[in-house]
Amino acid sequence: MRVFLDLMWFFRQHKTRYITGIVLLIMVALLSLIPPRIVGLVINALTHHQLTHAKLYRDLLIILVTALLTYGIRYLWRIMLFGGAIQLATELRTKLYHHFTVMAPEFYHHKRTGDLMAHSTNDVQAIQETASEGVLTLVDSIVTGSVVITTMAFLNWKLTIVSLLPMPLMAYAVTRYGKMLHDRFYLAQAAFSDINDRVQEYVSGIRVIRAFGQEDWERQNFVALSRDVVNKSVAVARIDSLFDPTISVIVGLSYFLSIAVGAMFVVHGTLNLGNLTTFTLYLGQLIWPMLAFGFLFNIVERGRASYERVENLLAVSATITNKPGAKDQMPSGSVAYAIRQFSYPGSTHLVLRNISLDIEQGHTLGIVGRTGSGKTTLLRLLLREFDLKPEEGQITIGGVSIQDVTLNALRANIAYAPQDAFIFSQSVADNIAFSCPQASREEIMHAAYQAGVLEDIEQFPDGFDTIVGERGTNLSGGQKQRISIARSILPNTEILLLDDTLSAVDARTETHILEQIKNVRLGRTTIIATHRLKTIEHADQIIVLENGVIAEVGTHEYLLSLGGRYWDMYQRQQLETQVERGGVEV
Ligand code: ADP
Repeated sequence: MRVFLDLMWFFRQHKTRYITGIVLLIMVALLSLIPPRIVGLVINALTHHQLTHAKLYRDLLIILVTALLTYGIRYLWRIMLFGGAIQLATELRTKLYHHFTVMAPEFYHHKRTGDLMAHSTNDVQAIQETASEGVLTLVDSIVTGSVVITTMAFLNWKLTIVSLLPMPLMAYAVTRYGKMLHDRFYLAQAAFSDINDRVQEYVSGIRVIRAFGQEDWERQNFVALSRDVVNKSVAVARIDSLFDPTISVIVGLSYFLSIAVGAMFVVHGTLNLGNLTTFTLYLGQLIWPMLAFGFLFNIVERGRASYERVENLLAVSATITNKPGAKDQMPSGSVAYAIRQFSYPGSTHLVLRNISLDIEQGHTLGIVGRTGSGKTTLLRLLLREFDLKPEEGQITIGGVSIQDVTLNALRANIAYAPQDAFIFSQSVADNIAFSCPQASREEIMHAAYQAGVLEDIEQFPDGFDTIVGERGTNLSGGQKQRISIARSILPNTEILLLDDTLSAVDARTETHILEQIKNVRLGRTTIIATHRLKTIEHADQIIVLENGVIAEVGTHEYLLSLGGRYWDMYQRQQLETQVERGGVEV
């Protein structure tokens, strides 16, 4: 029952709703006592030949009014309790979603998407049931149960004791089943998470699976997982299905005892026929509270397991947060990196070392280096996807540490086009306007033009309104990159970060995009990470990263004149271009 205490914060918030719901439930319990009593009285009147038409009509009218009242009240309590539970589910889902949005990338390294989805669907559903059916069964089993039992005791306490004799058996069975159900349900939920995760991976990786001809192998894997879910769910269902028959047997035993002993009381004249009829009808009304008692344990067990998991998830605190007193305004000025060293959380590998870098406001910085040299890490640190510890160094904008600026202010003023452009399954226009939802169609089209993707989009079946498949499945790699660039240049933020976003774009389009970016970014800071030197030739400053260290720094001309690593890379890439254009004379 601890889950009810866990949910107390919600019940308190909605106390009027819950108190009304519970009072209505009790009213239904009290109203349900009337018809059996009337039936008993009618039978007594019949046996004593005292039943008149007037009496019968009056009694029937009372039964009819009771039924109508019960109908109305049942409708109302459902709205109260079930409506409240839907609100709880909405609140929990919103909390989870908000939590997911503030978690740092490392959270997602440890949690699987399928798990997170299962928490937001199955677990929330189980908690919703606890707050609706759980409360219903609690009130019905305890309150209704005791109201009916007390009334039965008033009719004949001895017979009540006899008919309740099988009850301890039920308590035992229910507790035992409840425990088994908890364990099995936990396993079934975990298996469901696994399969969820797998489906998500299959769907997003379907191209790779097909490309490597692994469909059969993956299908077999899936069948095995699916069987596991079935087995574990059947194990839950086995216990679940033991509940009802067990309770029916116990109720049957109760009936047997009360009719056998009650008949003896009637024969001996200690109980009249009307009261025995009323008694057995009450016993019939005790079936639901008894069943509710069984369901209650079942629901509460599920609810507790789910609530624990959701709580555990919400208890993981965000690692990247706003510092108390953080500025809500983006400072302006040069961006300065002063990093002694940096390694990703949970890793000892030093990704960056001795980075000292000043990017004047309005300047363009080019970062070049091999894959794995730390280019993306430099950009992600500026976005505060990971925070530098004080001993690791700091990044400042206009002399203010980025950790002293709120995340909202910082990220609203930095646009980022990541290496793997993420495309939502929405229209092309919405994908571009993602960074600036209030942008007009003209602005969106202009951004698309600047990113060199306007012509492509105009050839799509519905132009800007074309819905792109999930994760942009009907777009080419270059189109995805350019839509992502359009998205990042649309809001014209103080700082723009482009992370190898032109790798799948042909040379002519690249020149167009670079020119447009140069114009649009006039007076604003731009950082471009790339392994293609041509992309950053025009930059005010270029750094060459090698294993996390700045190996060379300067302008394109200066770096060439050094005849070092940059010069080397330049020569190699020139050669590659010539080979692509049809070969070189040897
Ligand atoms: P680049 O952008 O130059 O290709 P990255 O900045 O992506 O390089 O990566 C630099 C190094 O950091 C690599 O050795 C990479 O394996 C490591 N790395 C990147 N992301 C993580 C992470 N989340 N956790 C641990 N190591 C990481």
